[in-house]
Amino acid sequence: MRKPWCIWPPYNFIMRKTLSPHLIAALAVAVCLGSVVFAQSPLPAASAADRAQAREIFKQLIEINTTDTSLGNVTTGAAAMQKRFLDAGFAPEDVKLLGPDARKQNLVVRLRAAGKPTAKPVLFLCHMDVVEALRADWSTDPFQFIEKDGYYYGRGTQDMKESDAALVATFLRLHREGYKPSRDLILALTADEEGGHFNGARWLLEQHRELVDSAYVINPDSGGVELDHGRAVVADVEATEKVYSDYQITAVNPGGHSSRPRADNAIYELTTALNKLAAYSFPFELNEVTRTYFKNLSDQETGQTAEDIRAILATPTDKAAAARLSEEPSFNSNFRTTCVATRLAAGHANNALAQTAQANVNCRIFPGHSPEEIRHQLIEILGNSKLTVKYVSDGGDVADTAPERKAIVPPAPIKEVFEPLTRITQAIWPGTPVTPVMENGASDSIYFAMAGIPCYGYSAIALERDDDRAHGQDERLPVESYWKSLDFFYSFAKALGGE
Ligand SMILES: [Zn+2]
Repeated sequence: MRKPWCIWPPYNFIMRKTLSPHLIAALAVAVCLGSVVFAQSPLPAASAADRAQAREIFKQLIEINTTDTSLGNVTTGAAAMQKRFLDAGFAPEDVKLLGPDARKQNLVVRLRAAGKPTAKPVLFLCHMDVVEALRADWSTDPFQFIEKDGYYYGRGTQDMKESDAALVATFLRLHREGYKPSRDLILALTADEEGGHFNGARWLLEQHRELVDSAYVINPDSGGVELDHGRAVVADVEATEKVYSDYQITAVNPGGHSSRPRADNAIYELTTALNKLAAYSFPFELNEVTRTYFKNLSDQETGQTAEDIRAILATPTDKAAAARLSEEPSFNSNFRTTCVATRLAAGHANNALAQTAQANVNCRIFPGHSPEEIRHQLIEILGNSKLTVKYVSDGGDVADTAPERKAIVPPAPIKEVFEPLTRITQAIWPGTPVTPVMENGASDSIYFAMAGIPCYGYSAIALERDDDRAHGQDERLPVESYWKSLDFFYSFAKALGGE
């Protein structure tokens, strides 16, 4: 995803804006790995021929326009990949091209287990569509794959045709080498993640669950390795997402001449209600991800802070300790849903009583709660039935009710995923800690999470922190990053599929 509210890398949101530096340090301790240190054995690198094919696929995908516009066509890209799999000798029933719209077909490829599978499949979920790019805005043609100064340029080089291509190349290579996993490995290349009416991930789950049903999902649309002047700093794995939600609070009044104030007043009613919100704190919560954060942090901290953290992790939680820690805004936002007034407008003249007073309240909802549930809570907190509390969509539309959709409840960071993910990441980027993060955005993972299938967001793409160009101009990927992700996915797919 990486829509405007989906910030890449997750560091930007969670690390810089939400977590304090000492928490970042604690997170840098491999969160789900305890003190295991992995030996850095060299990985089987792609051969020159493997690389040549992977580059050719990447080029082909970049040059097929898959925007949700009159010029774009996801099916063209999906069909081109289907042809590659069929030409390579995949059975037709394992390479399905399907979808609800002629231009929005999805491709589902299955690398079958040898014999009876030992476990449910692993699904690699990749969206094929890209955000519109205008030639006039770019210094190169966004739909030409151009290699320049150590970078590949083109729309989708960061989001996310690099991973689409790397995984297509990986599946082809595994098949070519005669690799037989012990469980099915599935690759889904889907439509309309960035927008449009035919979201492929949701459609496949609803209409053809048997094709994408899996033990868990690896979604390379988020997460990845953060570089600081070429040095790998941290590898983020998206484990959960806080949900962004805006509400419009309105007080109305008949108004009148300000020389004759009335007992009721729109501005006072609104500000009185907002003051109640200011004084309110949503309930303290922990989930798998934040519990692990704080557990690690308690080992790093000293004194009262360390004691308080241990106290909040205890059952029952020590409320006084939670309150003390919550004074730190970065802790506070990790502990609970937050709602804060961000805009205010009222009145129409200096000498008239306001007929309308309105505020925007922005909430960041802790996973497990829906925007509609929080809307109801806001009504209670504001405590004035004369006020209306409406939902404001990302597009700015105002609605009486909010979505019921809940954020991803973070799955347990299972060893089966995190052990190879960490081992392979550290073989490529030595010493880089792997950190589950809570991201402020949503991706196609939400559909699988809602269907009860755990999702882990990891791209294996290394980018400079200040070179985020997803959705922007002159989108580019370091050539070296592409090769590394190729090596990563090859070893990772084999590790998940059983060596
Ligand atoms: Zn994306």
